[in-house]
Order: sequence, then C-alpha cells, then structure tokens
Amino acid sequence: MHYLDANATEPLRPEARTAMLAAWDVVGNPSSVHAAGRAARRVVEDAREAIAGRFGCRPGDTVFVSGGTEADALAVHALGQGRRLLIGATEHDAIRAAAPSALTVPVLASGVLDLDALATMLADGPPASVCLMLANNETGTIQPVAEAAAICRAHGALLHVDAVQAAGRMAVDFSRSGADSMAISSHKLGGPIGVGALLLTPELSAVAPLIRGGGQERGRRGGTSPVAAIAGFAAAASVAGDCSSLAVWRDAAERAAVGCGAVVVGGDGLRLANTTCLALPGARADTQVIALDLDGIAVSAGAACSSGKVAASHVLAAMGLGALAGQAIRVSLPWNAVAADVDAFATAYARMADRLLRPLDSRAA
Ligand code: PLP
Repeated sequence: MHYLDANATEPLRPEARTAMLAAWDVVGNPSSVHAAGRAARRVVEDAREAIAGRFGCRPGDTVFVSGGTEADALAVHALGQGRRLLIGATEHDAIRAAAPSALTVPVLASGVLDLDALATMLADGPPASVCLMLANNETGTIQPVAEAAAICRAHGALLHVDAVQAAGRMAVDFSRSGADSMAISSHKLGGPIGVGALLLTPELSAVAPLIRGGGQERGRRGGTSPVAAIAGFAAAASVAGDCSSLAVWRDAAERAAVGCGAVVVGGDGLRLANTTCLALPGARADTQVIALDLDGIAVSAGAACSSGKVAASHVLAAMGLGALAGQAIRVSLPWNAVAADVDAFATAYARMADRLLRPLDSRAA
C-alpha cells in the first residue's frame, strides 16, 4: 500500500514510538503526590517544556488536550467570551462546529483569506475574535496569518490560529505569530493520535475549562494526562521540522495528474510542500478514491469526514470551484514518503483517469 493521506494522519515516527515505550513503563498517575506520581509528572512536564520550546510558547501557557478538535473548541470557548466570532470560509469542521453562529470571512479564488473583507467586517461592529488556519487540510494553502494578526490588532480583535496541519511541516512560532492562541495536534506531525496542545498568551492562560474534573492542566482541562501519548507527541514534535523536501515528489505527482486532465486546486499560491488537491473534471471524488484504493493508493476525497461519508467540500466551494468541488481528491505525502510511492501514484492515476473518463470502447488495453 502506498500511503498518501498524511493530512488525515501521519505515520508514527520511530522517535515517538521509542518515547512512548519508555513512558509506558512509568507507572504513576501524574496527579499523585508519591514518587511514582512525581515520576509520571516529570515525563509530562518535560514534554510540555519540549512542545512549548518547539513552538514558541511558555510551558505554563501550554495546555495538553485530546487533539486538534479539542484545542480548537477550547480556543473558541476562550476567545469567544463576550465577543462575536469571525471564521475563515475554509476553516476545518473543528472550528465550524465549535462556532456555529460565527460570521464567515470569505476567501479569494486562491483559497487565501480576503484580508480586505476581514478588515471591513472587524471595523463594522463590536469587539471580535477571529479563527484562521495556518495551512489548509485539503489544499495545503498557507494563510497570511501575520497580516491577519496585524489587522486583528488594529481593530482590537483576538486571533486563534489553527496550526494543526502546519506544525511540523513549516516554521511555526506562536510567540512571533501575533496570535492569541494556537492549536497543535500530535498525530498530524507523526506523534500518536489522541493528544494535542492549545498554546495561549499569558493574558489568556487562565482559560476556563471545557472539560471539568480533577483540576488537571492547572484547572484548564480535567482528565488524567495520557503520559505516554504526551511523551510521544513531544518526541515527534522535536524531530518534525518541515516538509519542504517533499515538494519535488508533490510536483511530480501533480505533473502526472495534470497530464491526465487534472486541475491543481490552489496551485498558484503558497502551499504546504506535502499537499496537492487534484480535481479531475467529470469524475466523482469518491469514485476516484475507491479506484485508487483498489490499486493500493491511499488518498482522500476533498472533504473526507470521520464517518467515511464524502460531502461536497466546503473548502473548494468557498474557492468558487462549482462542480469541481465534488471532483477533487487530496494527495498528502507523509514524512516517510519514497519515490516509489509517487511512481505508483502516477501509474494508478493514469489507469483511473482512463477508466473513469474514456468511453468503454476507446480505453487503453
Ligand atoms: N484542524 C485542522 C486544520 C485539521 O486538519 C484537523 C484534522 O484533520 C483538525 C483541526 C482536528 O484535529 P484532530 O484530528 O487532532 O482532532
């Protein structure tokens, strides 16, 4: 199998596996006061320091949660207090579901946030908070977070950045981003599934919990800390640098697909080097995914949902793609991709395009 669905989840990095194996031998509950508890606590606090240092936050302002979805929900909860919410049109469902009555800031055809619209919407009304992703999960489009942060600052608005797809794939420095909070997820950077972090400014650090319980995470998130997962998260984060070396293979995959009639969505803008969104006019996205899967290639439809159903992508619709929004697949190269993955993809894609687009009697043998 050629796994080209890293934006769904990255393969586990060996460093994360090693760190987790060691942490599983630590017996205590990190909240216990005895020596065993303190040993577990040490693992968690070392990991917190590593994650905080890696992404430019103070350890005390770094809150461990269950993943990107919870980090986004906690951020919306924190930043939404007494403020109206504005979210980018291509935000992940983690944000859309957490802020169902938010106003939507449109994107340009490139998928990049319309900064003029943001400024106008912020100028027009009471204090606001804005949610903007750093890199899009479907297209890889990188948003102008620094510019958006400056606009937010000028209008007294707070900014939450969803860096779930960006962290570990491009430079991410919370302290210099101008953001007030930032979501990170372990499994998108080669750590285990089930843990993530919300980075906060000192002003927001005392966020009220969404999940109450035993007062863990300094009262900001109840629940016994998953010691091994946190250790694996930190180990993965410390080795996940950026994915720029994958650009050559991403480009090779695109050339092969374009040669078969595909259109690269958002291809002109700044993108994550591991991600391409390929629309094949006339071929349904789910049919493409199944055809490629039968050939041993794992990719996603534009909007793969957790339930396995495929809906027309709100991201691609917001970019004005019309019917093409239901005809796009996402190819996202994992950190351990090899040339053979892209070669196999190119062969399978050509076969798939031939099957789906050519009339039966004119197909290649
Ligand atoms: N934000 C973005 C941009 C994502 O791509 C995802 C997951 O795909 C999430 C948030 C949710 O992260 P998690 O799977 O860790 O809950």
